[in-house]
Amino acid sequence: MKLYNQITKNVAEFVPQDPNNIKIYTCGPTVYSYAHIGNFSSYIYWDLLVRTLSLNGYQVNRVLNLTDVGHLSSDADEGEDKLEKGAKREGKTVWEIADKYITAFLKDFRALNLTEPTKIARATDYIEADIALVKKLIDKGYTYETSDGIYYDTSKFEKYADFARLNLEKLKAGARVEFNSEKRNASDFAVWKYVKPGEDHAMQWEFNGKMGYPGWHLECSTIIHEELGEPIDIHTGGIDHIPIHHTNEIAQSEAAFDEKLSHYWLHCNFITIDGQKVSKSLGNIYTLDDLREKGYSPYDFKLWVLQGHYRSDRNFSFEDLNAAKNRRLNWRNRVAESYQKDLSSSFIKETALSFVNNDLNSAELMAYIDDNTLSLDDWRFIDQLLGLDLLKTSPDLTDELKEQIKARENARRAGDYATADALREKLAENKITVLDTENGPIWQYLA
Ligand SMILES: [Zn+2]
Repeated sequence: MKLYNQITKNVAEFVPQDPNNIKIYTCGPTVYSYAHIGNFSSYIYWDLLVRTLSLNGYQVNRVLNLTDVGHLSSDADEGEDKLEKGAKREGKTVWEIADKYITAFLKDFRALNLTEPTKIARATDYIEADIALVKKLIDKGYTYETSDGIYYDTSKFEKYADFARLNLEKLKAGARVEFNSEKRNASDFAVWKYVKPGEDHAMQWEFNGKMGYPGWHLECSTIIHEELGEPIDIHTGGIDHIPIHHTNEIAQSEAAFDEKLSHYWLHCNFITIDGQKVSKSLGNIYTLDDLREKGYSPYDFKLWVLQGHYRSDRNFSFEDLNAAKNRRLNWRNRVAESYQKDLSSSFIKETALSFVNNDLNSAELMAYIDDNTLSLDDWRFIDQLLGLDLLKTSPDLTDELKEQIKARENARRAGDYATADALREKLAENKITVLDTENGPIWQYLA
């Protein structure tokens, strides 16, 4: 299969280190509020990645982290801690906030039928390992101490600018206004922050004789080291992670462990909502529950996401979501048809895989599905690949309902339209309708 390679900037053959242990790491959510559909679009793309790898015969070993500590509200090392912000907003402790939003995140994650990662890692379970990593960076001479923490000296890591093709001079000029005067270079970042006198920061641990907490890039380097080991095969995240978060992960890990951090980096683009950025002030932050309230299943949204490509920017609108909902109903009715007719298909697994094997091009696969006849076995395979639960959400009819369809047909033929209509209504209660065709009645799902 081919994947986009962030290092070489082209789509190239994916070469695994060990086909029986494809090591994948996904930067997960900061658990201080509900994840919105923009957040979930990325996990849907990575679910397709995992399913595609598995169906190619690889064994996937994937770790997803949950940031429950120390993620400041800006990419810089200043600003409010997101968890603290959530706690103040809701009058809860930071630990309660983390638990609440982890539960909500995992509920939605499962509602979208996203493949369960091998390991879901909470950042706060890795504080000791974080400290060991900071010590290692100190010992190797990559850090310096300021009054508010321990900073990574990016000038010591020669390749720092390479990954994101950063222009460090420009960065320096742009940062002048808010340049922390104790920082040696504008791109330097905290690996450990000290709790300031009077600062309200509930999560804190002792290190270097002071109380503090990890810098927010640190946990990913730590968790990858502890759970997977460098180098990993694929690291995924959003394009916003490229210039700072992933650049800093590489700097920390490669300096500390003298190994490449990851062979492939997959970054997904953002989605906009009705042409605008997802933002609280615009009131366009939708959660899966918001979509449910408007009559859409999480699967309608998942299908909408898979109609596009992870590297393109997408615009979400309810009009398009409605089209995706109709497409899913159409597919479910084709599943219903495949229960009723023995359909010979031209569709083969290799054909389906060939689309997604080209840098996860699910859109082309979906167009192919629209244009070709599929058997029940084909739909089963499509479910394995796209995870849309088409069979589970579109089961075959029970014998009782099949009898009702027969009885309705008999009544209709005998001219007993009152009985036929009563049976039609009964079927409608089960969200089933019957089409009278030349070849006899065909049932379909109503919704
Ligand atoms: Zn990360």
